[in-house]
Amino acid sequence: IECVSLSPMMEAVPAPPESERVCVFGTGDMGRSLGLRLLQAGYGVVFGSRRPHSSSSLIPHGAQVLGHAAASQSAHLIFIAVQREHYDFLVPLANQLKGKVLVDLSNNLRKNQYPEANAEYLQSLVPGAEVVKGFNTLSAWSLQNGPSDANRQVYICGESVEAKQAVIAVAIKLGFSALDQGFLSVARELEDFPLQLFPQWRLPLRIAIGLSAAFFFYLLIRDIIYAYVTQSKDISFRIMVSLANKVCPIVSLIMLSLCYLPGVLASFLQLYRGTKYRRFPDWLDRWMLCRKQLGLLALGFAFLHVLYTLIIPIRYYVRFKALVLIINTPLSLSLSQIRENRTTQFDTTTAWRGDSYLSLGILGFGLYVLLGITSLPSVINTLSWREFSFIQSKLGHLTLLLCTAHTYLYGWNRFLSSSTYKWYTPPGYMLCLVLPSVVLLLKLLLITPCVDRTITRIRQGWERGADQRNPKDSQPLIP
Ligand code: NAP
Repeated sequence: IECVSLSPMMEAVPAPPESERVCVFGTGDMGRSLGLRLLQAGYGVVFGSRRPHSSSSLIPHGAQVLGHAAASQSAHLIFIAVQREHYDFLVPLANQLKGKVLVDLSNNLRKNQYPEANAEYLQSLVPGAEVVKGFNTLSAWSLQNGPSDANRQVYICGESVEAKQAVIAVAIKLGFSALDQGFLSVARELEDFPLQLFPQWRLPLRIAIGLSAAFFFYLLIRDIIYAYVTQSKDISFRIMVSLANKVCPIVSLIMLSLCYLPGVLASFLQLYRGTKYRRFPDWLDRWMLCRKQLGLLALGFAFLHVLYTLIIPIRYYVRFKALVLIINTPLSLSLSQIRENRTTQFDTTTAWRGDSYLSLGILGFGLYVLLGITSLPSVINTLSWREFSFIQSKLGHLTLLLCTAHTYLYGWNRFLSSSTYKWYTPPGYMLCLVLPSVVLLLKLLLITPCVDRTITRIRQGWERGADQRNPKDSQPLIP
C-alpha cells in the first residue's frame, strides 16, 4: 500500500520538476541528513520507506515520504541510504528502477566483508539501473553540520558517464567537489576508504613506540638501577621528568634522521644503478611515503623535550638542591678557597659551550617547527615546488645538523671520560648520535660537486651506459 505523507510546508509549495527532484531510499541517519542537505540546496526530496506513515514524523520539513515503488517514480536519481544486507528489497522493484541512477552510499564494518563491492552487488540486483558509488566517505554527522564543517570532497565511480555527471551535478550543488575515480570496479576501494585507520601513521608510530620503549628501559637500567645497585641510592623519582626528558630528544633525533635517511639511500641507489628509471625496492618506497609522519612525530617528541626542559626550575628536586647549595656553599666554599688560597674563575670555554648548546637547540627547534608547518596541506598549496623542496630538503638537513650539534655539545668532553660508560654502556645521547651523523656524512658526500653533478644528470633522465646499450637512442632525431 503506497501512502503519501506531505509535511505542512510541502502542501502549499508546487512540486519541483523531476530534474530538480531526488529520491532517498531509507529514512535512517544517513538518509535524513542527506535529505536535509538536498532540501537546503533547493532540491525536492522524496523519501522511499517501508513504513511511510511512521517515517513521516522523522523526515526533514519540506520532504515527502512514499512507499519505495511510488517514490522511485518521482525522480531519476535515487540515493540508496539502506544497509547492504537489506538490498534484496530492491529486487521486486527492478522494473521500476530500469534506467534510473542509483547512488550506493553503503559502507561495511570491515574490509573484505563481502566477496564483491556493495555497489557491484547492487548493480547485479538491479541490472537495468545505472549504479554510481558515491557520498559514502561522508558521515551523517558531517552532512548535518553543513558545508563549513564537513569534508568537502566526494569520491564517485560508475560505468555510465551520464549517470556520474548527474551525481556530480548534485554533489556540486550541495557544496562538495566531486572526484570521479573511474569505473565501478573502484567501488571496493571507496568502500574501504572510511575503514582506514591511520594507514600512513602505522609504521612511524610503531617506530616511535619501539624506540621510546627501548631507550626508556636502557636509561632506566643505566641511570636508576645502576645508582641503586652500586651506591644504594633510590633516585627512581627521576623516571617522571629526567628520564622522560632524555628519551624524548633521543627519539626525536633518531626519527628526524629516519626522515632523511631514505632520501639519501635513494640517491645512492640511483648513483649505483646509473638511472632513475628503475623502481626502488618496496621497503624503500614505503619508507619514503611515511617521511612526513616520521617528521611530525619527531617534532612532537622535540616539543615534549622543550616542555620538560622548561619545567626543570620548578621541580622540587631542583629547588631543594638549589636551596642546599645556597645554605651550604658560600661558607664551605669560602673556607676551602681561603684554605687553598684560590678564587673561582669564570670559565669562558664552559660559557661558550653552554650558550652554544642552548642556542643550537633553540635554532634547531625553530626550524623543526617551520618544517612541521610547511608539511600542512594548506601551507604546501601556497608554496612553489622550489620553495617546498628548499624548506623540506635544505632546511630539513640544516635542522638535523643543528640538532646533532646540540647533542654533541651536550656530550662535550664526557665522550672521553670513562665514568660516562656505566657498566661499559654508552649513554643514550651517544647512541642516538650514530644515525644522524651517518645521514649527515652521506649527505655531505652527495653534495660534493662531482657526485652532485652526476645525481642531477640522472634525475634529468641521463642513464649510464645508455648509449652503448641502445645506439639508436644517441642518433639525432632529424638527420
Ligand atoms: P540506518 O540508520 O540503520 O538506516 C537505514 C534505513 O534503511 C532505515 O532507517 C530503514 O528506513 C531502511 N531499512 C532498514 N531495514 C530495511 C529493510 N529490511 N528493507 C528496506 N529498508 C530497510 O543506517 P544509516 O546510518 O542511515 O546508513 C544507511 C546507509 O548509508 C548504510 O549503507 C551505511 O553504510 C551508509 N552510510 C552511513 C553513514 C552514516 O554516517 N550513518 C555514512 C556513510 C555511509 P525505512 O524505515 O524508512 O525503510
